[in-house]
Amino acid sequence: MAGHRKILIIGGGAAGITVAASLRRRGIGGIAIVEPSDTHYYQPAFTLVGAGIYDLAKTRRSTDSLIPSGVARIKAAASAFDPESNSVTLSNGDKITYDYLVVCTGLKLDWDKVEGLADALGHDGVCSNYSPQHVTYTWDCIKALKPGSRAVFTQPPLPFKCPGAPQKIVYLTVDDLKRRGIRDQVEVEYYVHAPVIFGVPFFARQLAKIAEACGVKLSYQHNLVAVDSPAKTAIFEIVGGEKQGQRVTVPYDMLHVSPPQSPPDAIKSSPLANTAGWVEVNQNSMQHVRYANVFSLGDVASSPNSKTAAAVRKQAPVVVRNILGLMRGAAIENGYDGYASCPLTTANGKAIIAEFVYGGKVTPTLPLLDPGKQRRLSWWIKTSFLPVLYWSYMLKGYEWFPKHNTAFKEPVA
Ligand code: FAD
Repeated sequence: MAGHRKILIIGGGAAGITVAASLRRRGIGGIAIVEPSDTHYYQPAFTLVGAGIYDLAKTRRSTDSLIPSGVARIKAAASAFDPESNSVTLSNGDKITYDYLVVCTGLKLDWDKVEGLADALGHDGVCSNYSPQHVTYTWDCIKALKPGSRAVFTQPPLPFKCPGAPQKIVYLTVDDLKRRGIRDQVEVEYYVHAPVIFGVPFFARQLAKIAEACGVKLSYQHNLVAVDSPAKTAIFEIVGGEKQGQRVTVPYDMLHVSPPQSPPDAIKSSPLANTAGWVEVNQNSMQHVRYANVFSLGDVASSPNSKTAAAVRKQAPVVVRNILGLMRGAAIENGYDGYASCPLTTANGKAIIAEFVYGGKVTPTLPLLDPGKQRRLSWWIKTSFLPVLYWSYMLKGYEWFPKHNTAFKEPVA
C-alpha cells in the first residue's frame, strides 16, 4: 500500500512524539508517525529502577496513548529511505511519500559487539539498566552483594545515550552498601573506555572526587570485549597508554554493563547517513546537510551533543520552527546550541544536574546555585519533577521553559 503524508515522522519515542505534539499545537495536519513498538518507556528513570528506587511500571505507557490527536500512527518499522524520491519503505512493504521527513529512530543497543554478553545478560550477576527487560535484575544483583563480593561496572565507547548513566548506578550501589553497613567489605570497580570520567571537565572534576570518596576503583581506557558467564569473568582490552592492546580478565559477582551503541541498521545503510552511520544534520538547525526537507533529532542524529531526552526537548522546537519556516519560504534557524542535561545521581537522595552545551560549556538553568554541588533539590528534580516535565509537558508539545544560562562563568578550579 502506498500513501502520502505532509510530515512523516520515523520513530515515536521521546523525539517523535514531542515533534508531532508541537506541530499539532500549531494546527498542522497531515502528520503520521511510523513506530513499531506498542510500548513507550521513560528511559531516564531506568537508573532509579535499577537501584530499587522507582517502579518499572511507572516508566511504561502504551504508544497509542501518547500519539497526539489528529496524528496517524503507522505500526511498522522504516526499512529503507529514498530521499531523492521523498519516500520511505516500511517493514510491511508499504511505501510512503512525504513533503517533510523527520527521522528519530533512536539508536541500537549493540549487545553483540561484546562476545558472550547477549547470552550472559539477565542471569548469574550480569545486568544492565539499558535494557527494559533486565533493568529490575540490576536491583536483584545489588541486593545480592555481600561481604567479599566484587561489583564491576562498565562504560562503553562514545557515543552512548545519557553520558552519566553508566556511573550513576555505581554511586547508587555504593549508597546501598553503606546503608547496609557493608561498604568496606565489597569491591566496587568502574571500567571506563574514555580517559576521563565525564566529557565536561567542570563536572569531571566533581565526579572524580565523588568516586574517590565512594572508594570506587577507577580504570580508564578499558573497553569490555567479552563476558565469560560460566567463569564469571569480564575481559577488557586496554585502549590507550603503554599497555594499549593488552587484555585484562576481571572476576565479578555483579557485572553492570552499559552496552556499545550504534546507529540502527536501516539508517546506517541509507543515503541519510554520514560515514559513521548517523543521520547527517547541521548541528544547529537539525536540517539534513544534503536533503533540505529532511530533519533529524534525538539519539540518531549526527549532532555531537550528549544523547539525552533533555537534548530532544531543546531540539524539537528548532525542528518544528524550521519545518514551518520552510513551508512559508523563511530562512532556516540555527537555534540549537548543543544543550544537554544529565542529572547525576551521586547518592540515594542527592544529585548534580549537569547542564552544558557544545564545547563542554556549563550552562545551568537554576540561578545562583553552584551547579557542581550535590543537592537534595537536584534529586527531587530528577525523581519527581523531570518525569512530570516529560509526560505532561514535553510529550504534549509545550515548549516554554526557563532558559539555560549561556553566560555562566565556571568557578576557577
Ligand atoms: P527513543 O526515545 O529511544 O525512541 C526511538 C523510537 O524509534 C523507539 O520508540 C523505537 O521503537 C523507534 N524505532 C526504532 N527503529 C525504528 C524504525 N526503523 N522505524 C520506526 N521507528 C523506529 N536522558 C536524559 O535526558 N536524562 C537522563 O537522566 C537519562 N538517563 C538515561 C538512562 C538510561 C539507562 C537510558 C537508556 C537513557 C537515558 N536517557 C536520559 C536518554 C534518553 O532516554 C534518550 O536520549 C531519549 O529517549 C532519546 O529519544 P529518541 O526519540 O531519540 O529515542
